[in-house]
Amino acid sequence: MNRVQSWDMILKDANIIDGEGNIYRAKTIYVKDGKIQKILDQYEYGFGEIIECENYFVTPGFVNLHSHVSMNILKGLAEDVNINDWFNEEIFPYESKLTPMDVYYGALLGISEMIDNGVTSFADHYFFADKICDAVIESGIRGDIAPTIFGLSDNFEEDLEDAASLIEKKRNQSTRLSLRMGPHAPYTCPNEKLKKIVQRAKELNVGIHIHLSETSGQVEESLKSYGKTPFERLNEIGGFDIPLIIAHGLWIKKEDLNYINDKTYFAVCPKTYMKLGMGHGSLWSNYDKLPLCIGTDGAASSNTLNPLEQLRLFALIGKAEGNSENFKLKNMWEMLMRGHKALNFNTGNIKEGYDADLLIWDLNMPNTYPIYNPLASIIYSSESKNILHSIVEGKFVKRDGKVVFKNTPLWKEIERTSKEILKKGKGANKISY
Ligand SMILES: [Zn+2]
Repeated sequence: MNRVQSWDMILKDANIIDGEGNIYRAKTIYVKDGKIQKILDQYEYGFGEIIECENYFVTPGFVNLHSHVSMNILKGLAEDVNINDWFNEEIFPYESKLTPMDVYYGALLGISEMIDNGVTSFADHYFFADKICDAVIESGIRGDIAPTIFGLSDNFEEDLEDAASLIEKKRNQSTRLSLRMGPHAPYTCPNEKLKKIVQRAKELNVGIHIHLSETSGQVEESLKSYGKTPFERLNEIGGFDIPLIIAHGLWIKKEDLNYINDKTYFAVCPKTYMKLGMGHGSLWSNYDKLPLCIGTDGAASSNTLNPLEQLRLFALIGKAEGNSENFKLKNMWEMLMRGHKALNFNTGNIKEGYDADLLIWDLNMPNTYPIYNPLASIIYSSESKNILHSIVEGKFVKRDGKVVFKNTPLWKEIERTSKEILKKGKGANKISY
């Protein structure tokens, strides 16, 4: 006689949408030690918490591949401005006065919103990154954290060494945390500084996360000063040899396509492009040639940290511009899921051996019902309220519609911090360009 096995969690009779968008009915998923241990066609009795999923859909969690999570504390402060004023007159001056604790509470606030919206992993780019690592560990989400480095900073050497020691110190702290170098962008990092950062990343055996060709102005400026596009410059100093997250890459040129390889991923954030009038660039016309994933950018430009909203805008811009038969649901789902491949975690599918980062969807609500096509229900109709539970590494981070980590003291701190930010006002920019 078989001994009855015990599990941490049994998702019984689930309707699965896997990482490729394939749909399977009435499967039972057995989770233990943070992993999907087996998936059966027929429920088999076992000890452990049973979650009845007969009326629900189970999908992999979402990745937000580009955020500045702590900027949630600045959300709504810089509206109706152009991109240059957004940076130089609003955001950099406010940021110059932020303290490590402002960054910490901003991160917790942003993570709370991301968990509510189904994000199970995010890649972040900001300063005081040790505080963001703390927020990741406390909240239960996964984070790939890149300390931001400005090549134009007066303290460049010190900032680079601080980033390297943070990576060394934190890299083995949790299976939910990984780190990489975060050079801000080629327009704020002259070539020799950028090269030093990439070199240090190689020595540490980590990747980089960088803003690249965000605006057409940046590309023109780079061509004028160096005779090369930002992509060409990054390639010349070895930036494409290592795992690479490119934030935006909106104004990629045809010749830049040659540098893309299997370690390169793009984080696309259409809401920011629309709000800051950055144009459409070349991402839509090249979308089937490029490894595109979804990011949200910071809430000071995007106002929300919701990957589905960004994906929806990406598809709608693409359809509105040309052929409504393009940007198909399955391709959009693959784009949403591709972010998992960019990160160092064993997530992004519902198969035996993958880590259990899962969303359980209740689509039996007026906004999503009837469910003729579950991908359409999720991509075009759903809201965060349809995500009933979210699980990271086999543990609930959202349960019965509520984010699990404690929110009450956080609210007071956010109220206090936001008042202080207004009182402190704007300071001198740390860098100018
Ligand atoms: Zn950004």
